[in-house]
Amino acid sequence: MDKCSFCGRNKNEVELLIAGMDGHICDRCIEQAHTIIEEEFKSKDAFDLKSVKLMKPTQIKSFLDQYVIGQDHAKKILSVAVYNHYKRLAQKVDDDETEIEKSNIILVGPTGTGKTLLARTIAKMLQVPFTIVDATVLTEAGYVGEDIESLLTRLLQAADYNVEAAERGIVFIDEIDKIARKGDNPSITRDVSGEGVQQGLLKLLEGSIVNVPPQGGRKHPEQKMIPVNTKNILFMCGGAFDGIERKIAQRMNTKVVGYSAIESTSHVDRDNLMRYIAPMDLKSFGLIPEIIGRLPVLTYLDPLDPAALRLILTEPKNAIIKQYIKLFELDKIKLEFSEEALKYIVGIAVEYKLGARGLRSICETIMVDAMFEMPSKNEKSLVISESYARENVEKAGMRLMKAS
Ligand code: ADP
Repeated sequence: MDKCSFCGRNKNEVELLIAGMDGHICDRCIEQAHTIIEEEFKSKDAFDLKSVKLMKPTQIKSFLDQYVIGQDHAKKILSVAVYNHYKRLAQKVDDDETEIEKSNIILVGPTGTGKTLLARTIAKMLQVPFTIVDATVLTEAGYVGEDIESLLTRLLQAADYNVEAAERGIVFIDEIDKIARKGDNPSITRDVSGEGVQQGLLKLLEGSIVNVPPQGGRKHPEQKMIPVNTKNILFMCGGAFDGIERKIAQRMNTKVVGYSAIESTSHVDRDNLMRYIAPMDLKSFGLIPEIIGRLPVLTYLDPLDPAALRLILTEPKNAIIKQYIKLFELDKIKLEFSEEALKYIVGIAVEYKLGARGLRSICETIMVDAMFEMPSKNEKSLVISESYARENVEKAGMRLMKAS
């Protein structure tokens, strides 16, 4: 009697027996084989990075150059870190013994110098879910504010609740410096937003399975939690770390007294101590060592000088000035800015210490009348001169002062 060549069941023991060249297969074995194939493809899919566009570090840097002005050092470090991170994802677990460790990133630099912009641009490039959260809203469980898990709720939302996509996403945690421990003695007072939050964050950074409330918050206690594995989520943290230069200076002076007195001081760039930032400075600032250990890629951003601000106005792919020109173009109006007007805008941003973030509001102030009137006029071109810019800024002078 014919029997299944896989399980050995006789023809009368099975529903269906299909004959091949030298054997037979029964319906049960077909089902089983099908499941095996599906499983196999599924696990292959998980490592299939086709949906993630993997570029070489130099290509990543060129991509960043299109959107972010300056910050070459940070761009280089980030390009390598992101490249390695996604190479790590591509690595099969059972491939070999050397497992590449996750390299979360911490960016230190004054506000408005491009930390968030860098993270956002990387997410855009990789086409992975991306979210920005502010560390200051996070509190220890049981306190008013958002639980640490809410950070992943946002990521899930950004991924349209596709858990697998979210598990390869990027989370940018802004103002990480605000959860630094206040003072050296952790137990003087209850440090609600300090060390407890850092401990909570640690769990996410390390890579663990976290139960995430899909709607976030505590208002929906009935919601079913979604388990999310943070192992492959890239965390990027940013912070201004105001005053950290002092810690850097202190450390460097100690070092001078210590062992490297000779090669010291001579080529130390005292105006930009940030470039010497090291993990131990973050510790002196109040981050716990475990957190610092989980943020192995540390880099800094330079303050933006007038030349950089000038470039930011016109050079990035979606530069502010390009946007105005486009807006007017849609009304068939040719808009131009004189070089002097652009320099004037930069001057105002510097004078009022508004940084890159202020450039847009200055431009809005200058452009609002034109945007209001031009569409109903017959003129087909408009040149923004320095005097036009000045006139409008001075008209709104009081408001600008307030903004600063
Ligand atoms: P932060 O460092 O505080 O995260 P952001 O990245 O949010 O600063 O910068 C605020 C805005 O300023 C950005 O949206 C962008 O328009 C502009 N900007 C800041 N730095 C740069 C830069 N290096 N290149 C281009 N634009 C920049």
